[in-house]
Amino acid sequence: MRYSRRHFTRNTLLASLSCTSLGIPLLAQSRGRSYTVRKGDTLSHIARRHQTTVAAIKRANNLTSDLIRIGQKITLPDPRVYTTVDRLHSLRQQCAGIKVRKSQWQRIVVHHSAIKYGNASTYDATHRRRGMKNGLAYHFVIGNGIDSGDGVIEVGPRWKKQLLGGHLKSYTLNLSSIGICLVGNFEESRPSQKQLDSFVQLMNWLQEAVLKQKVDFAGHRELKGEQTVCPGKNFPLSAMHRRFG
Ligand SMILES: [Zn+2]
Repeated sequence: MRYSRRHFTRNTLLASLSCTSLGIPLLAQSRGRSYTVRKGDTLSHIARRHQTTVAAIKRANNLTSDLIRIGQKITLPDPRVYTTVDRLHSLRQQCAGIKVRKSQWQRIVVHHSAIKYGNASTYDATHRRRGMKNGLAYHFVIGNGIDSGDGVIEVGPRWKKQLLGGHLKSYTLNLSSIGICLVGNFEESRPSQKQLDSFVQLMNWLQEAVLKQKVDFAGHRELKGEQTVCPGKNFPLSAMHRRFG
């Protein structure tokens, strides 16, 4: 009992802090859903079922161990993700001089790379070998910690030069679609929390600071005629739609 009361008090204190007055986005604690632990549950089972990670659940509940007990109420962090870490610092610097063709971009499309390995420069080489003279088909690549940092956003040459993407089969869609690729095969694994954090921040930044308007958002497979499973069944597409329309 003492254990749960201490945690309850801590959560209540945290929830009572005004996050906006601290100049940071809302913390996961104040936006998550409540879940009551059932027999046989482990944090990793719960995380998997609710499109989040063990680390995110622990962070949202101030848990210091993986120990949970039947009947315990925990907060499930919103997979749309809220963090206090600014993941755009280097991106803003890299994009500082770019004259963005605001009227050209009407939608943002999310992809997975469908392989566990790689980064912007290895995909650039692959795409050039496939005959794409402008190289890397995506405008942005978000690393998974293997060949580039976990959650690190790389800016592709097509964004720097404001060129059409090569990430869609349809030429017309490529003309007007910004492509963001998360490294990984999300049919088999899940995007990391840092990748999702970065994705959300990149989406917000593009719409609010760069394009200065809300544009359409789609997972690759949702576009007509594309015939793909991309960005994979484990990418939280419906949660992202709730956030980005
Ligand atoms: Zn794709």
